[in-house]
Parts: sequence; structure tokens; C-alpha cells
Amino acid sequence: PLVLGIETSCDETGVGIVRGHTLLANTIASSVEQHARFGGVVPEVASRAHLEAMTPTVERALERAGLRFTDIDAIAVTAGPGLSGALLVGVAAAKAYSLGLGLPLYGVNHLAAHVAVDQLEHGALPKPCIALLVSGGHSSLLLVPDVAKDVVSLGSTVDDAAGEAFDKVARVLGLPFPGGPYIDRAAKEGSGTAVAFPRGKRDDGTLDFSFSGLKTAVARWVEAKERSGESIHVPDVAASFQEAVVDVLTRKALQACAKYGVQDLLIGGGVAANSRLRALAQERCDAAGVRLRVPSPGLCTDNGAMVAALGSDLVAAGAAPSRLDIPADSSLPITTVHV
Ligand code: ATP
Ligand code: MG
Ligand code: FE
Repeated sequence: PLVLGIETSCDETGVGIVRGHTLLANTIASSVEQHARFGGVVPEVASRAHLEAMTPTVERALERAGLRFTDIDAIAVTAGPGLSGALLVGVAAAKAYSLGLGLPLYGVNHLAAHVAVDQLEHGALPKPCIALLVSGGHSSLLLVPDVAKDVVSLGSTVDDAAGEAFDKVARVLGLPFPGGPYIDRAAKEGSGTAVAFPRGKRDDGTLDFSFSGLKTAVARWVEAKERSGESIHVPDVAASFQEAVVDVLTRKALQACAKYGVQDLLIGGGVAANSRLRALAQERCDAAGVRLRVPSPGLCTDNGAMVAALGSDLVAAGAAPSRLDIPADSSLPITTVHV
């Protein structure tokens, strides 16, 4: 079946079209430049931008795929988690398309979609697999028996998300928003062992994470240098911070694989685009005999294809379509794959 997926949980208006696990179109309109000067996403600005971009982005996706509305078999949409007003635009649009075209509606979980998207590049997910989900608002380790049915949380951050830490540290270093890609780039010119930053919860025996102590440590370190009039080498600080994050993420991901006897690890979410995370994860997976799957960077950050991918799995699994009165749920738990 042909599934059209709509994503509006944050600042990307994404529309994807898939047939099974074949990607036919993935168009994105982003309002990121409108938020940059505020140093973070402004919810009202994001909602308005979604409203303006929604129809043209859907039309562009259909055009890109060489399809018409009447070819589509089902509509999938991010029902949560995310910004309420932003989600509402996508959910309302999806309901309108569903009602107007007489198509089944599938409200899906944005985080499960970050996991499901990998199948568009690497085929059906092994059942089960372990997923490390690292994004702007979440950092979790998941046991995934079946992404269309059942996702189990093994651990998550007790404070900041990994992406949030990247964005906050970037700000301290005077890098633009969103900071993740800029830290990634700066770190390539620096040394990951230049500064010994703390690795929160690294050896605590849980599968939880903590990044707020690290963020504070970087800020204190930079402040101290500035106070004593010393200049800081941004690439070294970026690389050392990044190393602290990816060391803990990969270590705990492999601990989860060992603990649950699972040989397949997937990394998803915006931070999965990080080049050092990808390299260190590959190195450690190779050493542990674990197979690693990571989507291309462009499919790690928010997009419509991920929503279509999960919708396609739900259709294939014979899941019941969503009711037309489903709410947009800003705090939808990761264990609720669809609503
Ligand atoms: P969530 O998925 O939790 O709702 P979100 O949708 O806002 O949050 P994503 O789009 O999945 O987040 O990811 C965005 C985050 O990924 C930002 O924090 C951004 O800085 C980070 N990010 C993107 N590219 C990189 C990179 N190369 N290195 C590190 N972080 C990155
Ligand atoms: Mg974004
Ligand atoms: Fe996301």
C-alpha cells in the first residue's frame, strides 16, 4: 500500500510517501531560520510556519513521487510527542485528507518513527533489536520486539536529552543554533582528549543517561578560562564534550545488547547524524560482534518519510486505523506506538 506521512512535531514540516519500505518522496520545509535568532524553537512561530507550508509540501511530495491524491491508500501523521500547537497542524491536516479522500488514518509516535525509518534504507528491522534513540528532546534505550506493536523502555535520560546538551554547549561556545551539526564540524579540527569532561552515569549499572552535569562542566570550564583571560580553542572543547557524550551513549547501548542477548543495534533521532557517534558505535559494535544500523544523516533528523514508514508497518500488521477524533498528545509516551 501507498502511505503518505505527515510530520509537524517541531520546526520541520515533513511529508513522505512510501510503498512498503520503498521511499518514493520525502519533502521538508523548515522554519529553522526563523528560530535561530531566538536560540531555540519558538512554538507559535513553528505552528504558523507549518500552517503555511502544509499544503504546498504535500503537493510537492506527490509531484516528486509522480502520484495523485487518488493513488494514496492511507494517511499517517505524528500524533506526539512534540510541541502541541505544531502537532495540531499536522494532525488536523491528516484528518482532513483522511476524511476528504476516504482514507484510513494512522496517528503514530514520533519516536517510534525515528526507529522505523531505518527500514527504508536497510530493510525490515530484526525482531527484536535494541534502539538507541537520541534526539533534541529524548535520549532512550529501547528494546524493540516489533516497532509496529511493541516498544519497551530500558532506560532514558534523567535530565537533558543528548541533542539538548549539544545545543546548549554550542551556545556556550558561540556556535549557531541548532548546535549539534556545528559541534560535529568544529570537533573534526579538535582533540577529544584535550579536556577531561565528566561522563555522567557511565558506570552506575543502569541504562539511564545524564547530560546536565556535563553541560554545566563545559560552561564552568569556559567561564574559568574567560575569567583568567585565557583563550579557548573551540574545536578542542567541542571534541572533548562530544567524546564524553558519545562514549556514554555507545557504552550503554552495547551494555543493553549484552544484557538482553540482542545482536542488532539501531541508532535513531537527530543526534544519530553525529559523525563521531556513528564512528565510535561502529568500532564498538565490531568489537562486540553486534550488527549496527544507522539511517543516513538526512533521515535521522525530523522528516515525513519516518512517519510514512511506521504507518506502512501498521497497515501491513493489520493495525486498526485511528479514530478521527484523536488528539495531538505533546507527551505521548514512547511505549504507545500508535493512537
Ligand atoms: P524529538 O525527536 O525528541 O521530539 P526533535 O524532533 O526536535 O526532538 P530531532 O530533529 O530528532 O529532534 O533532532 C534534533 C537534534 O539533533 C538537535 O538537538 C540537533 O542539534 C541534533 N543534531 C543534529 N545533527 C547533529 C549532529 N551532527 N551532531 C549532534 N547533534 C546533532
Ligand atoms: Mg528540527
Ligand atoms: Fe525528532
